[in-house]
Amino acid sequence: SATLSVVEVEGKPKFDVDKTALLVKELRESFNSGRTKSYEWRISQLKSIEKMIDENEKEITEALHKDLSKPELEAFIAEISQTKSSCKLALKELSHWMIPEEVKTSLTTYPSSAEIVSEPLGVVLVISTWNFPFLLSLDPVIGAISAGNSVVLKPSEIAPATSLLLSSLVEEYLDNSAIRVVEGAVDETTALLEQKWDKILYTGSARVGRIVMAAAAKHLTPVTLELGGKCPAVVDSNINLQVAVRRIIAGKWACNNGQACIGVDYIITTKEFAPKLIDSIRYELEQFFGKDPMESKDISRIVSSSHFARLIKLLDEDKVSDKVVLGGQRDENRLKIAPTILLDVPEDSQIMQEEIFGPLMPILTVENLKDSFEVIKSKSKPLAAYLFTNDEQLKKDFVQNISSGGMLINDTILHVAADGLPFGGVGESGMGSYHGKFSFDAFSHKKAVLYRSFDGDTSVRYPPYTPKRVRL
Ligand code: NAD
Repeated sequence: SATLSVVEVEGKPKFDVDKTALLVKELRESFNSGRTKSYEWRISQLKSIEKMIDENEKEITEALHKDLSKPELEAFIAEISQTKSSCKLALKELSHWMIPEEVKTSLTTYPSSAEIVSEPLGVVLVISTWNFPFLLSLDPVIGAISAGNSVVLKPSEIAPATSLLLSSLVEEYLDNSAIRVVEGAVDETTALLEQKWDKILYTGSARVGRIVMAAAAKHLTPVTLELGGKCPAVVDSNINLQVAVRRIIAGKWACNNGQACIGVDYIITTKEFAPKLIDSIRYELEQFFGKDPMESKDISRIVSSSHFARLIKLLDEDKVSDKVVLGGQRDENRLKIAPTILLDVPEDSQIMQEEIFGPLMPILTVENLKDSFEVIKSKSKPLAAYLFTNDEQLKKDFVQNISSGGMLINDTILHVAADGLPFGGVGESGMGSYHGKFSFDAFSHKKAVLYRSFDGDTSVRYPPYTPKRVRL
């Protein structure tokens, strides 16, 4: 609404943090009016999101290009179409999701019936990140609306073009008395986090995840934390090498140039197989990005100069710099780094300690593939773990022994698009999950309701507790 939204700062609209409490109050009033709870309101807002995307595909693609040089097709497949299908699914399934779930009752409560009623939590906050800045902002918002909440979205300041676009599109297409965008960085997020929310869904680093959770704890606000980690890909030798390598490339360099939370962080394979694997990656990379990947239009740039500097520091660390077997080229002015492979970097190197989140790919070698389990288990639990093999026993052992947010055998990334699967981390990679029905659940309270009649009242439960009754 015009009363509080923005003030002009250096020609750029900026949220006035002093008005944060007022913003939340407004949204709470809308929620308390009951409007957002109705099926009709939820459907109308979801339809508006669909329309908003349909009518602005070009603008969205342009914003993603400005922020990340994101190739058009990648922007379409990974962000626009994913967001749309999430919206379509909610539109199709919402009436079923909203139906209370009948559950069995026991002899203790006889006669009775019981159901689980999904009710909206209230006023919720979604804090988003920059790597898939459109999808990762709107997808949780779709869940929050589906569940009947008022919602504030705080997109990432590191993807400013998408943030600005989201802010103006939401203002234009959605019910602003219940759905708002607050743009900004640390100050704005800090001001938002001081408020009492009924749920916070945060996507980003574990460092800030801790700040979010600490702020939420003050109000006993539940959180879903969508964090990251070092996602391993274990590669066996008994595979269709070309298909596996293409899928690894699709889950690294053709996925935002490695700047993806479920992107392959590092590979583990056997000493014997590594040279063959590297040759194949070299060959397929050339098929995808040409002889000089630095000039390819099909690969995103690094998002910012600080992330560029961080990646170069990982690459140029003394104990690592002589391990480069492919790539290594960089261009600071254009924030580009070529697809880079490093073989057998030491375990204590920085590149093996932190999430890489970029186009550098260490390959670790082991004598026996089973040894890879110990390497993975020595690190924090990752958001995704990948295995390429035709060995059924190895698949079973991997699923049973490796703990990760999600898991995918013989491919990368795609589990994110399986509607029936929850998407979320475990341990350092996060808590809670969303996607499809799980998004609805993430923003709902599961209210337990027991119905009794006045019939069949027994006196056994009532005092006085005579010995005879107690025995009963
Ligand atoms: P980030 O934590 O720096 O920023 C994310 C959000 O937090 C932004 O909106 C930012 O404004 C806000 N923020 C930053 N500093 C803050 C502070 N001090 N106080 C309050 N808010 C603050 O994370 P990032 O660099 O944008 O994201 C990278 C990380 O996100 C990686 O670890 C990656 O794996 C993870 N990630 C996870 C998912 C997922 O779905 N699980 C998706 C994408 C990225």
